[in-house]
Amino acid sequence: MNILTTIKDRLHASITDANFEGANIVIYTDNEKFFKEGESKIKEIVADIKKRIELRADQKILMDKEEVEKEIKKIVPEEAEITEIIFDLHRSIVVIEAKKPGMVIGKGGSILEEIRRATLWTPQIQRSSAIKSKITDKIRSVLYANNNYRRKFLHDIGKKIYKEWNLEKQDVWVRLGFLGGGRQVGRSCLLLQTPASKVLLDCGIDVASSGSEKFPYLSIPEFNISELDAVIISHAHLDHSGLLPYLYKMGYKGPVYMTAPTRDISALLALDFIGVAYKQAAAPLFSSTDVSEMVKHSICLNYGEVTDITSDIRITLYNAGHVLGSSQIHMNIGNGLHNFVYSGDTKYGKTRLLDPATNRFPRIETLQVESTYGSKNDILPSRKETEDKFLKLVKETIEKGGKVLLPELGLGHAQETLLRVEEAMRTGELPNVPMYIDGMIWDINAIHTAYPDFLSSKVRSLIFQDKNPFISEIFSRIGSNLERKGVIEGGPCIVIATSGMLQGGASVEYFKNFADSENNLMILSCYQGPGSLGRQLQEGATSVMIEEEGSNKRIDVKMGVKLINGLSPHSGRNELLAYINNMSPKPKKIIVNHGESSKSLDFASSIYKKNRIETTVPRNLEIVRLK
Ligand SMILES: [Zn+2]
Repeated sequence: MNILTTIKDRLHASITDANFEGANIVIYTDNEKFFKEGESKIKEIVADIKKRIELRADQKILMDKEEVEKEIKKIVPEEAEITEIIFDLHRSIVVIEAKKPGMVIGKGGSILEEIRRATLWTPQIQRSSAIKSKITDKIRSVLYANNNYRRKFLHDIGKKIYKEWNLEKQDVWVRLGFLGGGRQVGRSCLLLQTPASKVLLDCGIDVASSGSEKFPYLSIPEFNISELDAVIISHAHLDHSGLLPYLYKMGYKGPVYMTAPTRDISALLALDFIGVAYKQAAAPLFSSTDVSEMVKHSICLNYGEVTDITSDIRITLYNAGHVLGSSQIHMNIGNGLHNFVYSGDTKYGKTRLLDPATNRFPRIETLQVESTYGSKNDILPSRKETEDKFLKLVKETIEKGGKVLLPELGLGHAQETLLRVEEAMRTGELPNVPMYIDGMIWDINAIHTAYPDFLSSKVRSLIFQDKNPFISEIFSRIGSNLERKGVIEGGPCIVIATSGMLQGGASVEYFKNFADSENNLMILSCYQGPGSLGRQLQEGATSVMIEEEGSNKRIDVKMGVKLINGLSPHSGRNELLAYINNMSPKPKKIIVNHGESSKSLDFASSIYKKNRIETTVPRNLEIVRLK
């Protein structure tokens, strides 16, 4: 029987409506007494069917909106600094946006419960970010504007998930196809298939490649976009999320699961990607409409939140320690018959910004692990050593009147560096010079301050104590060409700008202007893909060609170029091995990907030698059977 009918029958007349919101079941009542006191009855049913049920009040009995606003302001202490109150009438939800959300929630949720009982609306909390983030505001407005569409969309997902919810499942097999990211870094994309589901894990672009090498193999026969049930994105780096809006352009209408910061940053990077294409006089792959479609179909999960995504797959996201919002995706397939962890990119080590990747899972049979720094030569120096070297180089450059350019990916290492420089200038380790943050990195900082729950406990508590390091006065935002010109013509400074591999973006503009002076210095610190401008410079090129408005221009490189990679948001080889050695429980099989071929193979054989765990290093287009 239909699960909603089953629930309604057991609760009798008090229920006016029952809907799915994705995997969640929501029921509405017009009986005020039942709304306030029906919890125990609902708990009984939850215990039986083992699915989450949320009870909300029917529209008919909700308090008037104006009254609600007054009531909320009466109940919530003023120090919470409410910035906005938004109503979603069709779902009986009131969203309260505040600077201090904890004070709206109250101890053990007591204030929220008071609001719920007083107004009969279901309150939800949102944090207003310390730095105004245009993208987060825009995303929220896209979601509100499409409330009706989303209600139906989420209900349809639920219908699909629960179609055969009480039938005995049989014949379980699981296979994993590599559409990209096999024995390479870039274009990560995996297709997981079971008898009942087709799910895409990541959908990236290889920005350093050209032609069809840029994209995952989406034209293979077993990939049919109309049969795709869900997409899950591990984190917002372009090599994992870059092609996602394109799926919507090609007609995909299903859900994409990820954390809220991953959604916001992916949208931001996608819009920037469109802008970069225009600047290079190329046709962008997708439009901002496709990015909005992606947002419209997003379902955000917090770490540890368990949710069904199809009739035979249940997922939980875990901290990956890599960048803000990055997750490892635990997939419980066929009611526990197979447990697969797609760990994406991970950092098994503490950074300023994030806590280390989790390696405790309820169950795990197969693990996917990256191998960006997997070879024997990839022992990263300690953080202290790396930071000292970095500060020394910066100090020397500033003292001789030069400028320091830091090309960054925008997300992850950039924020790590900003926090270190902020500390160094505050404590006098570095002379006080301006630190310029070019446009997009500033926007990404804003997203960091909007989601402190995803940050390390240390940074989170700084933000909660109003000592937010991201809003330090040493940082200035550079957003226009005129401002850029000011930086180029000005005195000693530090500039941080995207892209990290100098493939388009503001970093190339600064590079062109800084390159002709020996006093200036560029520090490369992220992975430099083969063929990229960054890689050429990393390998010591003294003269490079740059495309400018359709024609090629030669740039002689007199500035210093240094490479520092100890602060990588990826695990070094030792961290990768420790992540696996200390994993509990131990997987039976490990799939190695996301590394240059020799590194992946080297790392896989080391895992086997140390742990006697079966490993496999699939090439693109190969399929691995998990069960
Ligand atoms: Zn990454």
